[in-house]
Amino acid sequence: MQEDFDLVVAGAGVMGLGCAWEEARRGSKVAVFDPAPGGAKASLAAAGILVTRDARIFMSPFREFYVRSIRMYPEWLEDLSKAAGTEVPLHRSGDFLVFDASEPAGRERFESKLRQLEREHAKDFTVTDRLPGILDSQAPIQNPRTLHFPGECYVQNRDLIAALREACVRAGVVFREGEPARNPEYRGGTTRFEFPEGEWRSRRFLIAAGAWSGRFLEASGATAPMVPVKGQMIRIPKFHSGDSLIHFGDELYLVPRGDSLVVGATSEPGVWDESFDEKGEGFLEARLRRFLPHVDHGPLERWAGIRPRTRDRLPWMGWADQEKGWAICAGHYKCGISMAPLAALCLSRLLHGEKPLLDLAPFHPWRRQGLQKKSS
Ligand SMILES: Cc1cc2nc3c(=O)[nH]c(=O)nc-3n(C[C@H](O)[C@H](O)[C@H](O)COP(=O)(O)OP(=O)(O)OC[C@H]3O[C@@H](n4cnc5c(N)ncnc54)[C@H](O)[C@@H]3O)c2cc1C
Repeated sequence: MQEDFDLVVAGAGVMGLGCAWEEARRGSKVAVFDPAPGGAKASLAAAGILVTRDARIFMSPFREFYVRSIRMYPEWLEDLSKAAGTEVPLHRSGDFLVFDASEPAGRERFESKLRQLEREHAKDFTVTDRLPGILDSQAPIQNPRTLHFPGECYVQNRDLIAALREACVRAGVVFREGEPARNPEYRGGTTRFEFPEGEWRSRRFLIAAGAWSGRFLEASGATAPMVPVKGQMIRIPKFHSGDSLIHFGDELYLVPRGDSLVVGATSEPGVWDESFDEKGEGFLEARLRRFLPHVDHGPLERWAGIRPRTRDRLPWMGWADQEKGWAICAGHYKCGISMAPLAALCLSRLLHGEKPLLDLAPFHPWRRQGLQKKSS
């Protein structure tokens, strides 16, 4: 059996689903395939933190894209909640960023953060030398410096993924678990995808397979080096009654999830293994013991995910091969949940030959540090 689509997407993570939904709600006939049951690997593993640090001036195209995307979240979630028939709230409950100024490293990180806030003309924050009330007597930091950003947000990324998938299904997107039997093949203006039960054909193909995106490009003569960066997390019982995010410098974060807190995360470049292991256990336990020794650390859940990182740490967003109709949206590293609304909109515009909302040139897959032709 042969089925024809306007767009076929490889990968059912936040990028693939976001783009598929955007296209389907514009009236395109869309299909998504993913070898993993349920898909959304890094996207389900993530913490869902969406923090802008109130940036008003952007020091790089990446920073501008990231912040503008987070600012789209209220409207995006409202539309998504309607489309999926289920509420996905944005938790705008602020973020406490705590530094330990009794140590030189903690002082340096605090001062460097203040310099960043100044450069970006941030206004909506306060600085104190007290621990936030919700940490009460839990954190034994002698000399704290606390930045409070009341406007920061997070989203329950697992609910976000479920809603995106449901919105896609309601908009007519076809899903398939599993990969084509052979590499997608371009012939006569269409790309063909061969599955045991038949063939899909599509004018456009979007590669959104996260850390695994390179293989489609490798198969068509490009080198596409993607570095996997493993992140391990746990969930512990909630020990405070607040709804706020808490960051201990860049060493540990706590994100409320129902009656529990998501605690993260390791950063392990070059590791493809997706299991939670003793390295994750040791890393998180040591930091919890240091910052929150009085808290029950008994994990309710443990998991790991693979962040997709490119060589220059910028995502690939644009045409991989415009003649064939192949585009790519991958490599969002630690920021994919944050960057999804704007990425989906920009990619959809690109696929329709329209001007994206922000210039995608800095993220072009074939930029100097991006994809390269394989030498024969
Ligand atoms: C521990 C951790 C914490 C994080 N926290 C945050 C956070 O707080 N905020 C934030 O903004 N970001 C966060 N991130 C980053 C964010 O999760 C990623 O940037 C984002 O999820 C990447 O989305 P994606 O769709 O590109 O990849 P994925 O979600 O990994 O989806 C890619 C999909 O492609 C599929 N695939 C693989 N091979 C193939 C193939 N051959 N064909 C088709 N499909 C294929 C995979 O099965 C997978 O389902 C975190 C990541 C981790 C790991």
